[in-house]
Amino acid sequence: MKIKTKSLCPQCLAVIDAEVYEVDGKILIKKRCAEHGEFVDTYWSDALLYHKFERWKYTGNAGIRITNTENGCPYDCGLCPVHKSSTMLAIIDLTNRCNQRCPTCFANAAAAGYLYEPTMEQLRAMMKLLRSEVPPCPAVQFAGGEPTIREGFVDIVKMARGMGFAHVQVATNGIMLAKSERFCRELKEAGLHTVYLQFDGITDEPYEVLRGRPALNTKLKAIENCRSAGLKSVVLVPTLVKGVNDHQVGDIVRFAAENLDIVRGVNAQPVSFEGRVDDSERSSGRITIPDFINALEEQTNGEIPRDSFYPVPFVVAISHFVEAWKGMPQLELSVHPHCGAATYVYVDDSGKFVPITEFVDVEGLMEFIEELAEEMHGSRIGKLKAMARILTRGKKFIDYDKAPSEFDKFTLTDILDKGNRDSLAEFHRKALFIGAMHFMDPYNFDLQRVQRCGIHYATPDGRIIPFCAYNAIHRPSVEQAFAKPI
Ligand code: SF4
Ligand code: SF4
Repeated sequence: MKIKTKSLCPQCLAVIDAEVYEVDGKILIKKRCAEHGEFVDTYWSDALLYHKFERWKYTGNAGIRITNTENGCPYDCGLCPVHKSSTMLAIIDLTNRCNQRCPTCFANAAAAGYLYEPTMEQLRAMMKLLRSEVPPCPAVQFAGGEPTIREGFVDIVKMARGMGFAHVQVATNGIMLAKSERFCRELKEAGLHTVYLQFDGITDEPYEVLRGRPALNTKLKAIENCRSAGLKSVVLVPTLVKGVNDHQVGDIVRFAAENLDIVRGVNAQPVSFEGRVDDSERSSGRITIPDFINALEEQTNGEIPRDSFYPVPFVVAISHFVEAWKGMPQLELSVHPHCGAATYVYVDDSGKFVPITEFVDVEGLMEFIEELAEEMHGSRIGKLKAMARILTRGKKFIDYDKAPSEFDKFTLTDILDKGNRDSLAEFHRKALFIGAMHFMDPYNFDLQRVQRCGIHYATPDGRIIPFCAYNAIHRPSVEQAFAKPI
């Protein structure tokens, strides 16, 4: 297998030809810069999983086009007409100040030498732009620096809710949440849905390496304060670094399961490299999505097997069905299949993990849903007939003998339409989302991935910029254009 693509020279950031290819059961990316030589890196460490995920590659549509293509991807971001996915989650940096000094972070104000803090008016304009996309961006995440130290943060959350975002979350180190239960309560009252909590492990060692201090107690206190304030959704976000915390992924998921009343999921982020990193450092430190998936299988003694994971665009059929059902354009999760992986895991009363793939034929179900959507789109069947088909044929995708008891009480029609929402909610309360997204660095950068990116920054200059393009290319120029002296 050999795929031609484009990447970046990690030294001069020029766009250069690259090749993604298979060697010894792994997928590598290779490229040569005329000036800086050849670079080889691991793209995906498991070829079998790579090929499985490849099946769900899907080309979507981006909702907004505000720039031309003068300089070529990824220098035209805006979104430009070449882009292939709408915004599924928008990121807005509220400040580059931070109350933590992570040894590997160069994004904070002290290291950058300037202050970047969009004004309230700029924030409003950025959110307005996101809501004007077609379909409108449904979810916003405030980030930074550390967004919770931004003055007026609670009001910014309220503003986002007022502007119609269905989901508002904050990516945080948790220090401010750990300090004050009252602050957590204010955020809950302002309408914050999810705390996306940096959570690198269940001992202090990973924090000492990655954050420069033992921070486990801060995380535990932050979770406790969220719980007593009534915030109902925390997602644990470990940055995975080989040899530092990859041996803790099973324990992190078990910790999540022990705190199911408030922890809704774990979303791992294999580390991306910053600056210049030599070959040996990269090959010893590089960790990719399959490493996470395989480690989790091993560390849960096979309870969460690698086969339970699917790429993000696996669920595109659901968007097509809802679109046909409602007659309105729906957001498609059309990001590149090698950007992210996810599964959904039920935790039974004994604490055992039961992935949804154990009792639902998810591939058959998605094919069935896609077929229904196509028939409804083509007006070959109406809603009544579609519903009848779901009732008669939908059940065959579920193995009720293996399913948790809450599952017995509802059918597919309950999920798709009104019905027994209580048992669905009960099932959801006992289930965990487990995912991973591998943000790219200039070494493993693939233009085919970034062109399908669905995680987009909104910037004060009125642009919408895919996450990995922003961090590899655009961040310094955007921030400096709006920078103030510290
Ligand atoms: S990353 Fe997307 S928006 Fe940016 S230049 Fe490439 S195709 Fe256009
Ligand atoms: S943020 Fe990066 S890794 Fe995630 S979807 Fe976008 S391009 Fe892919």
